Amino acid sequence: MSTVNLHAPEVQIREVRLGSITGFEGTAGELVKNSRLGCLKDSTRSFSQCMGCSSGNALCQLAMIKDAAVINHAPVGCSGDFFGYNFVYRVGQMERNLPAVNGRYFNTNIEEQDTIFGGVEKLEETIRGVYDRVHPNAIFVTTSCASGIVGDDVESVTERLSHELSIPVVACFCEGFKSKIWTTGFDSAYHSIVRKLVKPPKKKTNKVNIINFWGSHVFDELLGQLGYEPDYIVPFSTVAQLEHISEAAATIQICPTLGTYMGAALEQVYGVPEIKSPPAYGMIGTDNWMRELGKVLNRQEEVEEIIKSEHERVIPKLQEYREKLKGKTAYITAGAAHGHALIALLRELGLEVRGAAIFHHDPIYDNGDIQSDALAHDVNTYGDIKNYNVCNKQAYELVNILNKVRPDIMIARHGGMTLWGAKLGVPTLLIGDEQFGFGYQGVLNYAERILETLNNKEFVINLAKHSSMPYTKWWLEQNPFTFLGGDLSVEVY
Ligand code: SF4
Repeated sequence: MSTVNLHAPEVQIREVRLGSITGFEGTAGELVKNSRLGCLKDSTRSFSQCMGCSSGNALCQLAMIKDAAVINHAPVGCSGDFFGYNFVYRVGQMERNLPAVNGRYFNTNIEEQDTIFGGVEKLEETIRGVYDRVHPNAIFVTTSCASGIVGDDVESVTERLSHELSIPVVACFCEGFKSKIWTTGFDSAYHSIVRKLVKPPKKKTNKVNIINFWGSHVFDELLGQLGYEPDYIVPFSTVAQLEHISEAAATIQICPTLGTYMGAALEQVYGVPEIKSPPAYGMIGTDNWMRELGKVLNRQEEVEEIIKSEHERVIPKLQEYREKLKGKTAYITAGAAHGHALIALLRELGLEVRGAAIFHHDPIYDNGDIQSDALAHDVNTYGDIKNYNVCNKQAYELVNILNKVRPDIMIARHGGMTLWGAKLGVPTLLIGDEQFGFGYQGVLNYAERILETLNNKEFVINLAKHSSMPYTKWWLEQNPFTFLGGDLSVEVY
């Protein structure tokens, strides 16, 4: 059944649309099995330290469109993440040799009286003000808990202002309180783009959409060899570019946690085929992904040649790395699909994965194809993974587990998680660029960085000696899942 409905202003949250969960303890194999049987049930926590917000995830995509502006219709505190995205935007500009400019993000500053009388007039005024100040080619309005609870009619305002200003003014519904799975914010951003910016195709092009965060341009060479051109979306694209992504020959996702909705929407609404194999991490995963790409782009022979020559180049080096990494153990903490990719990479390198704390789990993606299940690929290809925990960044659980597992290395995807490894004296590697581990070269890239980290552990050993833990001995001796499956009525947000 299609989960894409462009007639609706809002996309359904992941819990409802995909049956996604944020709490699980067991093995990866059990999780995959329960997902396939359709009997996956979320485990709530009776104590929760922190959570992300869909609004931030929507912003992280919309804020990087070069000629658009974003208005967060919210109390000003909800925009506390603006500076972080502006930093990412500025760094991305330097990497791409683009002129240095600040992102164009604004906030309506909803105050107490607006929550009584409504904030619609303030929003209209802000949209006009932003248009006069920065002349964007599109304006996105992201919503918040406050605007959602008050019931401001953001859809009507944006429709009206679109006509008045003759540019797309687009509502993006991403209130934090609606979903425990903050990646719902990616879906909200993509829903607003596909619904209001993307135009029906007039022709087919040789472009391939790459749904990615803001990583390196690793697809240029591969697609060039096959006679195609990458179109990296959404960060650092323009409004005009996004209008034509329906004309692409295919869509690639660097991470289905990010692009599940966009990939499916472009295929279901405009017939742009989505590559459905799990993303190309690890040798076997890359072979599968390459073959599907070749089939979709009608370049099977060329792809087989690339696979052959890449195997000849990479496998001897891989053997050397496997020798050096023999007997080493690892623990992973990351978002769902990228965490699954990291498991494949580490096991390809011969490391024993002692467990993982993965931020949520989608039992199926919007394409409805079980072939896309990257965790199932990990389990079927490399065997089961014990201590597989679905944990939405609850540091207390992570610290407890890490203290018991004591791996040789922790691999983290998000900055806020790395300090816990370091405080325990566990060498921790953080790589923010998903593209770094992609494809055949990605396996070697990771191997080199893991060796570097393992060979330079003096810093974390010293740090552990001189740092204190906020968690008591009592907690560290408890079952890490003491609060999982508890009473919702005392959950703390
Ligand atoms: S959870 Fe609600 S109040 Fe908090 S940042 Fe998100 S939208 Fe704002």
